[in-house]
Amino acid sequence: MQLLRSLLLLIIPGTLFFAALYLHLEVGVPAKWQPLLALFPYLAVIAGLFLAWRFNRTRVLWAIVLIVITERALMLTTPFGREYTLLVAPILVPLNLVLYNWWSERGLFTLHGLLRLIILLLQLGGVVWLYLIKAGEVMAWLSRPLFISAFVEKAPLPQIVLLIMTLSLIALLFRFCLKPEALEGSFCWTLLAVAAGFWWPDHFAYWSGIAAFLLTIALVESSFKMAFNDELTGLPARRAMNEFLLKVGRRYTVAMVDVDHFKKVNDTHGHDVGDQVLRMVATCLRRVTGGGRAYRYGGEEFVVIFPSKDLERTLPHLEELRETIGRAGFVVRGRKRPKQKPETSSKKRPGKAMLQVTVSIGAATRDDKNTTSEQLLKAADQALYKAKKGGRNQVCTA
Ligand code: GH3
Ligand code: MG
Ligand code: MG
Repeated sequence: MQLLRSLLLLIIPGTLFFAALYLHLEVGVPAKWQPLLALFPYLAVIAGLFLAWRFNRTRVLWAIVLIVITERALMLTTPFGREYTLLVAPILVPLNLVLYNWWSERGLFTLHGLLRLIILLLQLGGVVWLYLIKAGEVMAWLSRPLFISAFVEKAPLPQIVLLIMTLSLIALLFRFCLKPEALEGSFCWTLLAVAAGFWWPDHFAYWSGIAAFLLTIALVESSFKMAFNDELTGLPARRAMNEFLLKVGRRYTVAMVDVDHFKKVNDTHGHDVGDQVLRMVATCLRRVTGGGRAYRYGGEEFVVIFPSKDLERTLPHLEELRETIGRAGFVVRGRKRPKQKPETSSKKRPGKAMLQVTVSIGAATRDDKNTTSEQLLKAADQALYKAKKGGRNQVCTA
């Protein structure tokens, strides 16, 4: 399931890329659409820059800025200006895309943001300086063949460019394998779109628009995921739960799951271990049987919704869930010392311990008394309170 989701993140922008390629190679654009096509790169770039700024996605912002600078540089009318750009930019753009993608997001108006700007300006300065003092030599050096093969000899791009583009693509794909997310996936296709632009430089504006469009879509996709998914546990978040409750139907059961004495876990072993415990609990919740859908409600509280099931039929699944979590146990291997002095008088080193995690569960079914989802959640919360009062590590009903 996870693999399929990851593959989709590559397939969706990939389909767009191939559609753009098809439009470029086969169909061409009907005359009446030409003005729109001329406008497309501008719209894509403006939308991309705006969203990247609003969502504070510096990687996307700099990638688009870089592509725009390249597009402008290709318009140069100075001697060798365009030829020089066509040799230097296809090397620098892929390398920068790799750099942006591997460099994690740290905000625009921060030291990291400034550093990115300085790196970009240094490159621009270097490129202009080399152009002014030895453009001819640089161009001859970059154009020299590296290896002999029928395909690379026919390619309109120098061999060194093809080599760097391939290595950059491998680096981006590797990054995607480590972090299969929308932006990581779209960077691979963005590189290919930019490469297509260099392959057919007369259509660079079109391809830069496609590149910006691919990044913009990934940005929207990742923001959507951020809004509906909980980052820590990977479970759908409360907003997704509210959406689901709107369409769940008339018969369903809601269970509120709360980790027992969780504050103590944080105090004894540190917040990082607390986070790991939440991930472990989420993994068990994701595998809940009986068709239940788990959500992170907030903090150490989770909600499981069982569509078209009454209380009686959900109870065995909730008992099983409670037991699974209780059995799972948790080995604390944290290297860090706890933030606060442990409450227990244990003489054992705080670094290594077997932690037993239990949960209390309160469940309620939709009936004449509780008709709205708010009422149902409240009833489940009251049942949870009963479970806590009754000694924890148990399931109670409303
Ligand atoms: P009870 O058995 O009655 O539920 O006790 P409890 O300690 O689990 O409940 P309480 O509500 O007192 O404490 C919940 C703690 O969960 C407090 C808060 O710091 C912690 N917490 C909330 N969200 C997170 C999180 O994302 N990560 C970590 N590590 N701790 C969190
Ligand atoms: Mg709680
Ligand atoms: Mg708790």
